[in-house]
Amino acid sequence: MNQIKNNPFPYSHTNKRYYTIDHYFQNKYGQKVAKVPLNAGFTCPNRDGSKGVGGCSFCSSYGSGDSILSFHDTLKFQYETGLERMRQKWPGCLGFAYFQSYTNTYAPFPVLKSIYDPFFEDDSVSGVCIATRADCLSEEIVAYLDQQAQKKEVWIELGLQSVHEKTIASLNRQHSTQIVFDWIKRLKNTSIKTCVHLINSLPYENEEMMLESVRQVAKAHPNAIKIHMLHIVKNSALATQYLIHPFALLNKEEYVDLVVRQLELLPQDMIIERLTGDAIKEELIAPSWTLKKTIVLNDIDKRMVELQTFQGRLYAQ
Ligand code: SF4
Repeated sequence: MNQIKNNPFPYSHTNKRYYTIDHYFQNKYGQKVAKVPLNAGFTCPNRDGSKGVGGCSFCSSYGSGDSILSFHDTLKFQYETGLERMRQKWPGCLGFAYFQSYTNTYAPFPVLKSIYDPFFEDDSVSGVCIATRADCLSEEIVAYLDQQAQKKEVWIELGLQSVHEKTIASLNRQHSTQIVFDWIKRLKNTSIKTCVHLINSLPYENEEMMLESVRQVAKAHPNAIKIHMLHIVKNSALATQYLIHPFALLNKEEYVDLVVRQLELLPQDMIIERLTGDAIKEELIAPSWTLKKTIVLNDIDKRMVELQTFQGRLYAQ
């Protein structure tokens, strides 16, 4: 794939100075790949009382899913209609089944197998992504997914959010940072790819703390990272907290500057799956600038050109 003129970053075929998931898919499949979000009707141990109640304080009532999906529809129907929708935007694109909402390994193994098997057998599914909590992984499910990963691409997405235990305790996440890093390490010995989520602007975190989270992810070196701005959404514990005692949130310019600095710290071969989230407009309380996703992404590109920088410029092994 041709590299664009004047872009020093090697993992790019556009003006991006970081390694986008689109670049990864284009290189691997020679075309666009769309991730189709699915809701398999799971819950979460941090909601049903087995680990905690109320969920992580930032989590929406949709379990941090991007869109409102109905688990009353069969998964096959959700996938087919979702892929059809994606193909209106990107004709002929390939599809990945993306189990996004809630904790998608939180069920007995035979139940999980019965949910995932049909997707591994379906030729219209090019890969499977599973978002979950690190404390809901087991050797059994990982061995099964590893076996399936011999046939088609499998990703596990783990919520880390921050490496600072004080922050994590305040978010009511109910599992340690260490367990996330332990599974990143363990998954490296499999064919499963790993993506880690971080959130910027969590309550009372300063810039240095957010940079430190990125440094530690860089060191652990999962295959990919998603970086989000904190969304204060309706029906979350954080919304109640924010409405009573508003705390400072990064503005767009601060966020763009921070993300550029974070990208500089990440290894060049780490895929950047996201640099913004997809809040549902009607659900979002703050900050409203996050709804202008394209502007945020364009501003990140512009800032990187202004600074003549790129992903990995300051990465220290
Ligand atoms: S672990 Fe995930 S689904 Fe569960 S409460 Fe936290 S963010 Fe929501």
